Amino acid sequence: MDFRLTEEQKLFKQMVRNFAEKEIRPLVAGWDENDEPLNDEILQKYIKLGLIGIPLPEEYGGQGQTIFEVILAVEELARVSPLAATPVFESGVGPVQVINRFGTEDQKRRYLPRVCSGELMICIGMTEPDAGSALTDLTTRAVPDGDHYVVNGRKRFVSGGGHAGAYLVYVRLSEEKGPMGIGALIIEKGTPGFTFGKRERFMGLRGMPSSDLIFDNCRVPKENLVVGKGGFGKLMLAFDVERLGNATMSLGIAQGALEESLKYSRERKQFGKEICEFQAVQLMLADMAMKVEAARLLIYRAATEADRGVPSVLHTSMAKCFANEMAKEVTDLALQIHGGYGYSTEYPIERMLRDSRGWPVAGGTVQIQRINIASALLGRRFDQRR
Ligand SMILES: Cc1cc2nc3c(=O)[nH]c(=O)nc-3n(C[C@H](O)[C@H](O)[C@H](O)COP(=O)(O)OP(=O)(O)OC[C@H]3O[C@@H](n4cnc5c(N)ncnc54)[C@H](O)[C@@H]3O)c2cc1C
Repeated sequence: MDFRLTEEQKLFKQMVRNFAEKEIRPLVAGWDENDEPLNDEILQKYIKLGLIGIPLPEEYGGQGQTIFEVILAVEELARVSPLAATPVFESGVGPVQVINRFGTEDQKRRYLPRVCSGELMICIGMTEPDAGSALTDLTTRAVPDGDHYVVNGRKRFVSGGGHAGAYLVYVRLSEEKGPMGIGALIIEKGTPGFTFGKRERFMGLRGMPSSDLIFDNCRVPKENLVVGKGGFGKLMLAFDVERLGNATMSLGIAQGALEESLKYSRERKQFGKEICEFQAVQLMLADMAMKVEAARLLIYRAATEADRGVPSVLHTSMAKCFANEMAKEVTDLALQIHGGYGYSTEYPIERMLRDSRGWPVAGGTVQIQRINIASALLGRRFDQRR
């Protein structure tokens, strides 16, 4: 067991940090205020730096690196803005991984190079109005008709909804209830019968578009089926890696809040001295640092296991649940350390607190992660319906 990053990993992390400080930080407040998505100019910079498609194979235009490098890059970008980390997240651990792992050669050739060149972002449509945590209750139906599927249904809270060019959509491929009938199709924006709902207004993560996906007799070519009926386990396997990306968003936000708090506590004076000299402030800083570091270790372990081909649901769920809760606590302490200024939009802390709040809900709630953890510990699955 070696807890150190390699020299290459350190250099990579530093390179992303420098980029985030120089190119991203000046834009972040404006993105939040105007609810503005990342533009193509910024995306081109990511491509130049090799931050798009980090773990995808080189033969399809990817960087041929590991999930661990995605985690390092997401951490550094989310430290400044989780919005800035989304292109790395989506093209590294997002639904594109389902195509990379389980797609046909034709699907890989059709989609992976377009993702790696920045031309296409693929987002995930799982949640439905009546199927959130109870995902296997989903009712979006894909019925075969000649060489197409006819899709009807509605997906909710899809990050990138309306903005992304393609969606990996979880559908029910047969009348069977529960996980057995579920598979996934790629559905491209512009396909007749596919429209979007209104843009959601969230408390945080502004600039990250989100909307419903609406399918009304939408005809999707059969060659777009990535995972067939009975493949729900495969979808969850790939989604476990996406969860690590979610956990790392929390880690990055918390690391950023910790650094802001250290800086502020050395600058702000009360009673004639820097507030970092008060033990009550020191204890808050120490608690924040311990929590951030513990989350980092949990995430790094789970990512290393995923790269070795032995992903652990237990370790991923622990990492996600802990990091999500941790970022809420750490950003809250950061606000306290900043006093009234932390509550003001002039400082970045209130945004960090708002941004931290989405991740414990997205990607499977922290309650559902705890159920996964308990199931692994007890060696049993607990049917939530009975
Ligand atoms: C920022 C953000 C981004 C998102 N991005 C996407 C996306 O890209 N694609 C997508 O498909 N979805 C996305 N979602 C949706 C997200 O996956 C769902 O919101 C989440 O799975 C919870 O579903 P729900 O909102 O219907 O809540 P519900 O499932 O209704 O849960 C409500 C509450 O009940 C609790 N609960 C439910 N069942 C149990 C149980 N058995 N035991 C204990 N507690 C339980 C939950 O933990 C929660 O606290 C996103 C959500 C957010 C907030």
